[in-house]
Amino acid sequence: MQKRYLFAPGPTQVPPEVLLAMASPMIHHRAPDFIELFEQVRADLQWLFQTTNDVLVLASSGTGGMEGSVANFLSPGDKAIVVNMGKFGERWGKICKSFGVVVDEIAVEWGHSVDPGQIADALKKNPDTKAVFIQASETSTGVANNTQAIADIICPLADTILVVDAITALGVFDIRTDAWGIDVVITGSQKALMLPPGLAFVSVSKKAWALADKANNSYFYYNFKKEAESQRKQQTAFTPAVSMIVGLKEALRMLKEEGLEKIFSRHARLANAMREGVREAGLAIFPKESPSNALTAIQAPDGIDGQKVYSLLRQSYGVTAAGGQDHLKGKIFRISHMGYVDTFDVIMALSAVEMVLKDLGYPVLLGAGVGKAEALLRKSI
Ligand SMILES: *Cc1c(COP(=O)(O)O)cnc(C)c1O
Repeated sequence: MQKRYLFAPGPTQVPPEVLLAMASPMIHHRAPDFIELFEQVRADLQWLFQTTNDVLVLASSGTGGMEGSVANFLSPGDKAIVVNMGKFGERWGKICKSFGVVVDEIAVEWGHSVDPGQIADALKKNPDTKAVFIQASETSTGVANNTQAIADIICPLADTILVVDAITALGVFDIRTDAWGIDVVITGSQKALMLPPGLAFVSVSKKAWALADKANNSYFYYNFKKEAESQRKQQTAFTPAVSMIVGLKEALRMLKEEGLEKIFSRHARLANAMREGVREAGLAIFPKESPSNALTAIQAPDGIDGQKVYSLLRQSYGVTAAGGQDHLKGKIFRISHMGYVDTFDVIMALSAVEMVLKDLGYPVLLGAGVGKAEALLRKSI
């Protein structure tokens, strides 16, 4: 027997309470029990998103929420600014182009965050820009952006919206949708929300709805206006992912019980212990600045293939992490600490990393990183 451990940056671990809730007998989505369930879930999502805006629930992976957030708000020929600092920023560019949007891409070297001043400059060059697309946390590099500073630039503009992919940020660190004036915030079920893959969530501001009224792109399934009309009546336009929404209710109940501040401080504590443990083990983290608290991207040491670390973690120890993407393949490996995670998830992940590196002949002192994390995570009396 080999026990398995999931430390990938999506899908993440799902709590037994949520799994059990999802095993409940099917209910009908047009019957009163669904209406009651959906009303609860929608209110709790507004709490999580820190907003009074509509938070749409879509049956799709996170990318469906991203695609809908391009198609519904922009028309072919509209201008958009896209920040590309990794795989998911690149995806914003690809989606925009496939909907005929004219993209001004701010390319940021992987491992860095975007300088908000660059966005301000790009907006000065093209004041008729309709939307700015960013990641709050770029999962391919493990780097977070200063979303608040970026929102400060865009919020005062009457005809430009800020669209934030917060898929590995919401429920990890503070994203204040209303207080910062973020127009569109997107997340998915399989990251910090402690659910299986299959749901996307999108909050939409008044400014964004006004843009949607003028936009004329083509879409059918991801029709946000039609969804909002239905969802305000506690219904969905099409058949919802019923069991996922049942699980969502339980996940949100658990998150509410902990409270936003504690959720954020737990993630900060765990992320800090992971990073410090990695350094103590003689390794370096990949981000050059503002590492995300959702996951840690670790640099493979010289002469060690990061993909080999990834595959040995799985084969030898049953630990699923993630490798690097594109030009970072082999150069880094990534370990998630978002969602249903606590002290011993970090300890186990660090321990497995130390053992694999030792197996690969790297001169790691076994227990060094683990010891550091223990010292940091221990509850002092
Ligand atoms: C996981 C993720 C997505 C969405 O990916 P899907 O596979 O479509 O769920 C988008 N952006 C970021 C930053 C992510 O981490």
